[in-house]
Amino acid sequence: MKILVPVKRVVDYNVKVRVKSDGTGVETTNVKMSMNPFDEIAVEEAVRLKEAGVATEIVAVSIGVTQVQETLRTALAIGADRAIHVQTDLETQPLGVAKALKALVDKEQPGLVILGKQAIDDDANQTGQMLAALLGWSQATFASKVKVEGETVTVTREIDGGLETLALKLPAIVTTDLRLNEPRYVTLPNIMKAKKKPLDTVTPDALGVDFAPRLKTLKVSEPAKRGAGKQVGSVAELVEKLKNEAKAI
Ligand code: AMP
Repeated sequence: MKILVPVKRVVDYNVKVRVKSDGTGVETTNVKMSMNPFDEIAVEEAVRLKEAGVATEIVAVSIGVTQVQETLRTALAIGADRAIHVQTDLETQPLGVAKALKALVDKEQPGLVILGKQAIDDDANQTGQMLAALLGWSQATFASKVKVEGETVTVTREIDGGLETLALKLPAIVTTDLRLNEPRYVTLPNIMKAKKKPLDTVTPDALGVDFAPRLKTLKVSEPAKRGAGKQVGSVAELVEKLKNEAKAI
């Protein structure tokens, strides 16, 4: 079974994000970019399925500017077999990405697509669901455990008050949650090996996908600054302030 893993290049999760002075978006110039953390978990899960003899090939896909090829090389260093770059300078939005992925699924015929549950830049949490709808495939989102047996994938999800287990018929879409696995450390020999793995580039036009953004960002602004704290002299004063000033109790 082939597994397709879409990976997005985002601002590294350790970077303190700064809003551009004109409020049109966040600063990405001279900012460290990395693979979306949930996508790293997705690649790791696919590699574990290959190591377990369930998957035969892992194809990593990224849609965006030329630099997303670095993210694809990371996926190849973790253990993906080959990569596809869908080249566009347009802002990537979930519907356009889902349409491009649908075109690639039609071509590649994977048994499983494993995506991140959300990209940490737009926090959209939409692409996997949209792809499942476009393909008419079953989906299990926010997976914390994945097991493939025969024609079925069993997915455990953490939900309010406990765990839910779903059994889906393959082919299917799975999106990863944080506790699914801990991605392996990428070693230097694997980074070197990844440089030799195949990476193909295609255009949205060649896939027949209209990639024009459907959403317009009106304004991006910093969250309100936190005010300075106040020190109180006693518990009684604290309770009095919580009651009469903050009206919290
Ligand atoms: P989102 O719906 O934007 O929160 O993204 C959910 C998941 O869709 C991500 O974790 C990725 O697996 C995938 N995805 C989103 N945008 C892209 C992109 N430009 N290239 C590849 N995969 C993407």
